Amino acid sequence: MNKISNDYNLRAATKPWPRAENSSTELPMDLVAIFGEKVFGLREMKSCLPKFAFKSIQATIERGDPLDPEVADIVAQAMKDWAVEHGATHFTHWFQPLTGSTAEKHDSFISPSADGRVAVNFSGKDLIQGEPDASSFPSGGLRATFEARGYTAWDPTSPAFIFDNPNGACLTIPTAFASWTGEALDNKIPLLRSVEALNKQALRVLELFGVKASKVFTTVGTEQEYFLIDEDYYYRRPDLVACGRTLIGAKPPKGQDLDDHYFGSIPERVLAYMLETEKELYRLGIPVKTRHNEVAPSQYEIAPVFENSNLASDHQQLIMLTLQRVARNYGLVCLLHEKPFDGINGSGKHNNWSMSTDTGLNLLEPTDQPHANVQFLFFCAAVIRAVYRHQDLLRISVASAGNDHRLGANEAPPAIMSISLGEQLHDIFERLVDGATAESNQGGLLRLGVKALPELPRHTGDRNRTSPFAFTGNKFEFRAVGSMQSVSFPNVVLNVTVAEALDDMATMLEAALEGKDSSDRDVFNDAVASVLRTVVAEARPILFMGDNYTDEWHAEAEKRGLFNLKTTLDALALMTSEKNAALFDKYGVLNNRELHSRQEVAEEQYQITINIESQMTAAMARTMILPAAVEYLTDLTTTLARGNSVGLDLTGVRKTAEEVSDLVDSLRESIDRLVQENMTAHHEWHSTASHSKDCQIPAMTAVRLAADSLERALPRDLWPLPPYREILFVN
Ligand code: ADP
Ligand code: MG
Repeated sequence: MNKISNDYNLRAATKPWPRAENSSTELPMDLVAIFGEKVFGLREMKSCLPKFAFKSIQATIERGDPLDPEVADIVAQAMKDWAVEHGATHFTHWFQPLTGSTAEKHDSFISPSADGRVAVNFSGKDLIQGEPDASSFPSGGLRATFEARGYTAWDPTSPAFIFDNPNGACLTIPTAFASWTGEALDNKIPLLRSVEALNKQALRVLELFGVKASKVFTTVGTEQEYFLIDEDYYYRRPDLVACGRTLIGAKPPKGQDLDDHYFGSIPERVLAYMLETEKELYRLGIPVKTRHNEVAPSQYEIAPVFENSNLASDHQQLIMLTLQRVARNYGLVCLLHEKPFDGINGSGKHNNWSMSTDTGLNLLEPTDQPHANVQFLFFCAAVIRAVYRHQDLLRISVASAGNDHRLGANEAPPAIMSISLGEQLHDIFERLVDGATAESNQGGLLRLGVKALPELPRHTGDRNRTSPFAFTGNKFEFRAVGSMQSVSFPNVVLNVTVAEALDDMATMLEAALEGKDSSDRDVFNDAVASVLRTVVAEARPILFMGDNYTDEWHAEAEKRGLFNLKTTLDALALMTSEKNAALFDKYGVLNNRELHSRQEVAEEQYQITINIESQMTAAMARTMILPAAVEYLTDLTTTLARGNSVGLDLTGVRKTAEEVSDLVDSLRESIDRLVQENMTAHHEWHSTASHSKDCQIPAMTAVRLAADSLERALPRDLWPLPPYREILFVN
């Protein structure tokens, strides 16, 4: 057998970049000029639409007014002209099916004319509605294949943009995806509905507080972690190619133990890649702001400035697509999987979330005016109530096969949801609740009056990096989100649960003020204080300031009665509980059928993922690892036979042969078991998400254990896969 050549190490370390034909590296980068140049936003519309049409579309975008079909035709015409100027020959309705990624089907602008030529056309109808042949997207039973029609509907609140390719460009129109019966088949529709639910309840609260605003929306800023590896390694790893993560691979001698990568200086090729990625994102109007090295070797992070949640969530998808696309120009591959490498940190995505009014007020921003802080505390308490009452939903919203490797593995928050408020805020809420019993002797301190409330320091730093849900100065940061997932559903859950809490609390406040003079500041503040006390007293078990990674916390959380939904399937089982179905239904976010369909799709995705991984593990073990081990064994036994014939002792060789032979036995046994479990999964399709979890995963783990031991024992040049110690340290 040929020895395996490791020349790719040298090639990976020295290859020229970027690949000139694709990359866009004219310098210097003029940030102001390029920002949004590929976006057909309000600025472009204003410059090219007749005034009445612009006013009308602006009202649709900003206030949600119904779209006038005549205006749609005018907008379509202008959009097409703009797109053609930018090199577009095609357009696509871009949508977000329940797989969590994005989907597109391209149509050309041409329409044949009678004289055998073509004209370039794009109508209001083309813009507003599309009908992808979408029968293969998972719908969780919402759509039988024989009536598979789904339609896409233009979302004018997220601007159309150009997707470039060296050979042309495509006008890309963000859309929602629904069945003909109007049921949501995507991630965007529930997000828009949840924002509306929150808007309604938040405005109701603001009115009680006497604050004028005509709209409240949620803001989202995402911090995306990812790995970058050289493509020469990638293509030698069938597990990375098929599953996005390594299924086999021993821990390297040097991992992240020295903590020398975090915030370290960025390697030149990687930095060049980041600059081009950012440039592409600026062109798409995405305000990316921060970049740095992350904890694990070859791991990095990118974060944009926050935007309204619908736009932020579309932009988050574009960030992921662009990170992956541009990497190829540098001979790199961007891995977005939650756990590409065992034994070192995986990747997450922090979802920073707040609520804002159309007048620019951040409702989670403490102020230095005590009476305004009463309002801040009210909104803050609503989030606490929401998270406490719906811990299960937050956990469900981040449940996936990939994220199961991270949550609770001492690198990411555990599967137990809790809130870290930061010391001062924690203290205020604690005193507020305890004061209920000690009010008489503490007097005015506990009234939320002007003199009572301490000034809240603004932007206090949160040092508790282990918390899944932390208050970080003027926003909450949900840290359990997976790196690969869409942020839509986590934000749907945040929006709808907080909408419910605000609804409940507004009702409580109205009751507390009943028959009283609410214009008297003290009366009003007392009523608010009583609501806050009730709310926080109930939700107190969710507040935790300590280290979330410890065993003590797991025990304590259990005592407190908090959920600990360890795996995706534990979480998904609760998705359609009576409580959850009632919540989504009440606020018009998902009806019962829509909710059930999501549960079904998520379970199916889980199962398919594990199944692919199991098949791939078996294939690699049988066709790559086992033959390599047997070859080494052949070398050793041949040596033994020859050595013996000339009277050599060869104790060391014999020992090695015995060791390898034992490892081959365990590998073979574990492969047999895995193959058996895979067959069962194949034949009993219906049994099966739990079969994947309870049988295929442990069988895969056993194969990996045996394979990783062999990796440590075999000569490097016989090992058929690039090892971690090479993949992670050549950049
Ligand atoms: P960190 O300490 O977590 O690095 P940063 O201040 O850098 O915090 O912010 C992280 C993310 O939070 C960024 O995407 C930022 O835009 C976002 N962010 C800041 N303010 C808000 C807000 N009001 N709503 C939503 N996201 C926000
Ligand atoms: Mg952060």
